[in-house]
Amino acid sequence: MGQSPLVLTGICGSPGLALGRAYLMDRRKVRTPRNRLEESQVEAELLRFREALERSDAQLVDVKARISTGDAHDHALILEAHRLMLQDPMFVDEVRKLVARDRVNAEWAVRRVVRKLRHMFDNVQDEYFRERKSDLDFVADRVVRNLVGEAVDEEVEVPEGAIIVAHDLSPADTAVLLKTGRVVGFVTDLGGQTSHTAIVARARETPAVVGAVRASEQVKPGDLLALDGTGGTVLVNPPEAALATFRETMAARAAEERALLQTRDLQATSLDGFRVVLKGNMEFLEEIPSLLAHGAEGIGLFRTEFMFLDREAPPNEEEQFEAYKAVLEAMGGRPVTIRTLDLGGDKVPGGVKRSEREHNPAMGLRAIRYCLAHRDIFRTQLRALLRASIYGSLRIMFPLVSGLSELREARSELEACRSELGREGVRMGGRIPVGVMVETPSAAWIADRLAQEADFFSVGTNDLIQYSIAIDRQNQDVAYLYKPLHLSVLRSLRHICQAAKQAGIPVAMCGEMAGEPAYTLLLLAMGFDELSMAAGQIAGVKQFLRRVSRADAVGLLDEAMQFSTAEEIERFVNAELQRRFA
Ligand code: PEP
Ligand code: MG
Repeated sequence: MGQSPLVLTGICGSPGLALGRAYLMDRRKVRTPRNRLEESQVEAELLRFREALERSDAQLVDVKARISTGDAHDHALILEAHRLMLQDPMFVDEVRKLVARDRVNAEWAVRRVVRKLRHMFDNVQDEYFRERKSDLDFVADRVVRNLVGEAVDEEVEVPEGAIIVAHDLSPADTAVLLKTGRVVGFVTDLGGQTSHTAIVARARETPAVVGAVRASEQVKPGDLLALDGTGGTVLVNPPEAALATFRETMAARAAEERALLQTRDLQATSLDGFRVVLKGNMEFLEEIPSLLAHGAEGIGLFRTEFMFLDREAPPNEEEQFEAYKAVLEAMGGRPVTIRTLDLGGDKVPGGVKRSEREHNPAMGLRAIRYCLAHRDIFRTQLRALLRASIYGSLRIMFPLVSGLSELREARSELEACRSELGREGVRMGGRIPVGVMVETPSAAWIADRLAQEADFFSVGTNDLIQYSIAIDRQNQDVAYLYKPLHLSVLRSLRHICQAAKQAGIPVAMCGEMAGEPAYTLLLLAMGFDELSMAAGQIAGVKQFLRRVSRADAVGLLDEAMQFSTAEEIERFVNAELQRRFA
């Protein structure tokens, strides 16, 4: 404190304000080499392992000494538990045994033993023991880093009220961190507005600034950060006056938020009676209470692949069935759209090795392509969905469809699973609407044909924009080109809506564009029947919709689409919004 404040600028990952202490993390996974040893090398390898254990222990002692004088003394006990693991025979002796017996290097042996122990923990009923898996990973990571000679970050359990600062975070890391309930914000060097880390943060109403370039180098552990997720800025160690203003703004925003929630039970109907259904996007069951509290009329997108991240083996049919059943029951008869797995891209299942990763994952074996290439995984999910269908109002949709053949293929898998379950005497719901996520330019262009065979559309603008403008949605260097109001995007959206209307099927939007009030008028004009978004966005969009008329919106859209550049369209739309709602 005291020095002139540093201001970091990035991109809005998740809106809102947060004040907290920086907690720096390096979550880039350490590489684990695999070597075979000669008999004569075994002794030296065991010594190397012992030294890595000793170094790990010394580091933990050091971290403990430092935190016990600072804010985080509560975590000393956890560090002590980590130290005990470094002496535990189940870990140490097993690694030694593998090195000696199988003549493998110590890093590899550590990973193998940990995999076995994780598996044992998985099968233990006691939740406490199952929770210990992450401790095991922390300890193993530290030992492996010491073995390969990589720097070890002083990783302790995240303290209460922390703002995580990292070079990059995987969606799984973000989710795990949020589960601790101790994180109030995120700042990452990498990432764009619709990267999945940002989406997870938004779902949990946790402010985040992404794409803040060198934040993880500029911020020091324990720095006080005033994070403005909406504006994409972070004040580092703000002076007293700035801090006081920030606190006042936080209090004012909280009051606004409370006021907006008063509209929870009102319908989103325009002044001239056009009704739009507002639903929620979700990744984890824990998000449902918040979605309901914000007035979600259903689930418009359940990103089921999040259940597959951060674990070695995929969830089996039973586990998935229980999850889908729980969502349907929790929504009490409100419609629930469950998307089949969108694995691939930046959502890599836990068991996939780095060497197996694709060169260009966004264009690779992702989503419906992944499922059609891994039929066993796909069928397991479809069976679980069909079994759960009796517990509520289920719709199924397929992600990243690029052509009609994929839709037909996916539908026929669904029908095959239905017949199979029928033969097994399993009860299932009646006709389940099957939809297509329109998120590739290819699907947008053949929307008229897809509409003949799909029961509904849901537009995934995060991907549609990514693929239309050819910008990696994770890459902050091209984030400036991410323009929902690009004429190509507007034309695609209008075309998709027209195709849906002509075929008489409902059309929804579940990409991030749906939750941004600045676009609501245009989406109303195009005729979207449903918008699905994060909990924190529902009230704002609803308030907006209730204050405008569709007739007015249609005129505005026509005029906006006369312009040619995204900047011109943005300027025009913003000016018109200002004029109406100043
Ligand atoms: C989208 O692409 O807009 C979408 C909703 O799917 P995801 O963000 O999970 O790719
Ligand atoms: Mg998508």
